[in-house]
Amino acid sequence: MTAPGHTAFENGRPVVLRGGTVLTMDATRTVLPQADVLVVGNTIAEVGPALAVPDGTVEIDATGGIVMPGMIDTHRHMWQTAMRGYGADWTLTQYFVWYYLEHGKTFRPEDVHAGNLLSAVEALDAGVTTTVDWSHGLQTIDHADAAVDALEAVPGRFVLAYGNIQAGPWEWATAPEFKRFYERRFHGSDLLGFQMAFDVTGDPEFPERAAFEVARGLDVPVTTHAGVWGATNDDGIRLMHEHGFMAPSTIYVHAATLNHDSYNRIAATGGHVSLASESEETCGQGYPPSWALRAHDINVSLSMDTSVWMSGDLFSAMRATLGADRAREHLEAHQSGETITQLHLRSDQVVEWATRGGAEALGMGDRLGSIEAGRLADVVLLKNDASPAMFPILNPFGHVAYQAQRGDVHTVIVDGRVIKHDHQLLGIDLSAVRREVDATVEHLRSELGEEAWQHGMNPDIPETKILDNPYTYTDFASSATHDSAAGKTE
Ligand SMILES: [Zn+2]
Repeated sequence: MTAPGHTAFENGRPVVLRGGTVLTMDATRTVLPQADVLVVGNTIAEVGPALAVPDGTVEIDATGGIVMPGMIDTHRHMWQTAMRGYGADWTLTQYFVWYYLEHGKTFRPEDVHAGNLLSAVEALDAGVTTTVDWSHGLQTIDHADAAVDALEAVPGRFVLAYGNIQAGPWEWATAPEFKRFYERRFHGSDLLGFQMAFDVTGDPEFPERAAFEVARGLDVPVTTHAGVWGATNDDGIRLMHEHGFMAPSTIYVHAATLNHDSYNRIAATGGHVSLASESEETCGQGYPPSWALRAHDINVSLSMDTSVWMSGDLFSAMRATLGADRAREHLEAHQSGETITQLHLRSDQVVEWATRGGAEALGMGDRLGSIEAGRLADVVLLKNDASPAMFPILNPFGHVAYQAQRGDVHTVIVDGRVIKHDHQLLGIDLSAVRREVDATVEHLRSELGEEAWQHGMNPDIPETKILDNPYTYTDFASSATHDSAAGKTE
């Protein structure tokens, strides 16, 4: 056995992570204290204590750390990542105006490439080994090729969810060039999957039928923003169901403002919800529906949505989901004078949603999402000996959900390949990514002009009405002035 050097991982040698706390995320969420995980080729060969390993195996010391499956994000608009943080103070309406109505068309193929590249690297750095690229900025096939080029340039696992907000799905999905693109770029690889991404408006004519039929013809899943306040609603779900287009492979993003009947239809057809709690809490799609999904026994995965607002790691998604679920449970109880003494949503559940839940949503539950012999080797080690927040690790699920951060991601393995080790990304030229992103920001900023650029980032704040107060206000201002003046004369 050898300790890893800079080039140790380049020749496909087996890798063993030694002595970590292993969250297997198997069917019973088994935790193995001080266990080893052996990776040979692109699969997990063995999991257990003090494993014997083949000659030439590279050893990674995982003691004091947590080994878990690579996290899976089922809904991320990667093309928007070059606008990181720009819309931090937006509502969903402001987002729609900026991207759908005013500036989405400004993005060139190279801008989609730049956003995807940055997003892909960011995801891997944070231990998100599989990402669904909910790519609804594909105005032309050139944009789509640019999106895939970027995903193929980064050694992660991705799913292109093809969409185009500049045209109806019945238009872009039925164009011959769309099918040619799919056949040209996708070949059933486990590393690059495909979905179709479009929303169902609830129009009684159900114009989206044509796009669903294309998806059925290609045998690819559909992902759709469902239950988004002011945009999509129960009519869309009902139409999908009545026309026979709700399938076990369908992913319903947000699914926040839906009624009992819609949740029943999702549950009965075996669909999956992609919960983006951090987004739902901010933007206004509706209250993060984990409480309703629990009541209807619906499959859950997690997502972060878009870096134009939110953080691109699933630690934040897990934390936001726990917070939203628990806040709602307490608030509802308090309104009827009751006290919650035991919480429904537990940290091991959100870790499962961030891993296994995503794998099942993508139809890969038999290959991904757990650390078991024979699974594809997407493995993350959380360990940071320099961090005072990484010890003691008493409750490993709680530690992942509430204590760990992206800086604690020590090692990332995708498909058996070590792509991050000792907190350093391997073989990824971040300065080249930065150059592309800088060029995109420069392009967008000059297209918008400085005034529109600044105004877009700083939306107006509504007036806060101070409530009438029956008590007499203390005159803080004049008493403070008096005190300081008195101090000076002394
Ligand atoms: Zn979205």
